Amino acid sequence: MIVPAAQHVHTLLASYPDFPLPGILFRDLNPVFADALAFRAIIDELTERYRGQFDAVAGIEARGFLLAAGIGYAAGCAVLAVRKGGKLPGTVLAEEYDLEYGSARLELEVGQLPAGSRVLIVDDVLATGGTVAATARLIERAGYTMVGVGVVLELADLDGRSRIGDTPVHTIISL
Ligand code: AMP
Repeated sequence: MIVPAAQHVHTLLASYPDFPLPGILFRDLNPVFADALAFRAIIDELTERYRGQFDAVAGIEARGFLLAAGIGYAAGCAVLAVRKGGKLPGTVLAEEYDLEYGSARLELEVGQLPAGSRVLIVDDVLATGGTVAATARLIERAGYTMVGVGVVLELADLDGRSRIGDTPVHTIISL
């Protein structure tokens, strides 16, 4: 029997109150990724949702890298690494943004894809949307087009979608 990705996530997701700060309910997807069938179901669902619509998949450090690698392999497309500040060499674009807890900086190396490439952005959790919105700005500033967002878990109360505009957002589950 094929178990849908959403059922895998509901079953395997771990939640940690007050991590990494008081008041934050941390959603840990590592047990989901550590299950081979669950990981494959997630990769398959996100790949099929956007199949034929993207030339590259951009993963956001760090858990987004796991998703981007799988989707890139499944779709036979390019993979971009959107990294936290200070880790990339050469000419980089940078965006600062606020997190559910604290602030952060993301960077992207320029010149990796042809101008106008269609890019799918992926990450593990969509919370306030600041991370994906900053990544979207990097993608557009690099000369590419963001065609969609794929995440495993959306924290609906935080309304991250409102910061992403009209771009389609596909989530495996929403809590
Ligand atoms: P945001 O920018 O608020 O949408 O936050 C999304 C990013 O922060 C993702 O890369 C997540 O890995 C991480 N994150 C934010 N809130 C949580 C949470 N409650 N549990 C797990 N990860 C989170």
